[in-house]
Amino acid sequence: MSDFQERFKQHEKKLTETDYFQRAYTSALYNKNWKNHIDDISKIKGFKGLQALPFTSAGDLRRTWEAHTIEEIILTDIVAWWYCTSGSMGNKKWIPWTYADYNRAQGAIGKIILQHLKPEDRLMSIILPPPFLSGSSPFRILDGTATLGHPIEQLAMAPEYLQDSFGLLMRRQPTAILGTPSFMLRIADEIAQRAPEILSMQAKEKKSAKLRIASAVTKAVKIKPKLVFKKMRVGFFGAEPLDPFRKAIEDQWGIEAFDIYAFTEGYGGGYECSAHNGLHFPNFNGLIEIIPEKELEKEENDPNYKPQTIIIHEAEVGLKGEIVLTDFKDALPLVRYRIRDLVEVVAVGDCSCGEDSPRLKIHGRTDNVINLGVIRLSSIIFDQFLRKDFKSGAVKLWEVLVSRDGYKPKISLTIEPEFIKNEEEFRKDLFESLHSFDIFQRGYDNELFIFDEIKFVDNLKLEIYGQGKSRTIRYDPGFFKEIKFK
Ligand SMILES: [Zn+2]
Repeated sequence: MSDFQERFKQHEKKLTETDYFQRAYTSALYNKNWKNHIDDISKIKGFKGLQALPFTSAGDLRRTWEAHTIEEIILTDIVAWWYCTSGSMGNKKWIPWTYADYNRAQGAIGKIILQHLKPEDRLMSIILPPPFLSGSSPFRILDGTATLGHPIEQLAMAPEYLQDSFGLLMRRQPTAILGTPSFMLRIADEIAQRAPEILSMQAKEKKSAKLRIASAVTKAVKIKPKLVFKKMRVGFFGAEPLDPFRKAIEDQWGIEAFDIYAFTEGYGGGYECSAHNGLHFPNFNGLIEIIPEKELEKEENDPNYKPQTIIIHEAEVGLKGEIVLTDFKDALPLVRYRIRDLVEVVAVGDCSCGEDSPRLKIHGRTDNVINLGVIRLSSIIFDQFLRKDFKSGAVKLWEVLVSRDGYKPKISLTIEPEFIKNEEEFRKDLFESLHSFDIFQRGYDNELFIFDEIKFVDNLKLEIYGQGKSRTIRYDPGFFKEIKFK
């Protein structure tokens, strides 16, 4: 039996022989929801028991946080770390981890990172504070690699303070990067614009007259990061799909790029190996189920339909569907949590890298979310902010088209008004309303996306799906294509 299949035998044993389900049942997150679906929790066992339970959604998590005390939700007295998930709804969701939960994940993280890094490597981590991403990754990588005997040097910084860190980065010359793809291109942009300044810094560092002259004459020359960080060799990228950015990043930074898919909600992320054929999901401390596309369709047409799933150890190549996560955290396990990302199984069995866990490709979100990479905006929130009480006009219907301008995502908003008193003012009111939403504001002010001029039309035709639901968010096919970066 392969290591991966053996792992699933252990998982099934855990779900059969321990009080895993009974324990989770005591949390307010699951209690009421499960009560409506099962008669006797003590009879719920193994994979079969798991698949009989209802799914858990981000909405369940949010509603539970609003209606219950923390003590009614968590299962331990002591928590070590609260992870924040950005929450496209604006409400942050906080996930508790105990110290044992944290430690249990370290070995896996260390093993994955040390496949590509040597003890002498130095990792430059651009970490985004909440609400974008949990900023714990450098600590976890340091602990994870140290657990295996080779702590990797971390040069961690928040993007807002990159300028302050530049001196250290130039002198300490990192060899690896951890960041989000679009942000690493933003930085490449910045380095290009600051070329003269950077060359003169380099000249000072190296006491080179040649570089000093170059800095004086290259006022308009764009330099690539790989000329500044010559020791850079690999990079790890998460929070948004790497593929559209991969070539541009590899070219700009002079590295081999690897995709990472992490759940802030829990264990069980995926990583790309040197075969670069999908992401391995080793399922170390939890397990993944997939809701096949056909089942999703049935659910879309009948909201009461309960979709069937396939557990990942039984999945075959070609299976496409939505990913569902169950994990074994003590503080609050996730049980059948719908991540709302579509995936495809691209390989199973032995891989050239030596691992035998299945490889998945991530195809993006299934729900009505404006996904701009590091920023995710829910259509429900968008709707609320567009339907405020404006004197200048009112919205009847709206639609967002997500496309790309260079490497930056672009939002084009089209509106069919109920009435307009003053077009210019209405445009201004609508924008100001959206801008008052904190996630939108941070993304817009930090130039992480472009907001197109709002268009008004007389008759907006929205795409209808399922039971007469209309789709308000569309993606231009070009959004998923490889980007050009000059
Ligand atoms: Zn592999």
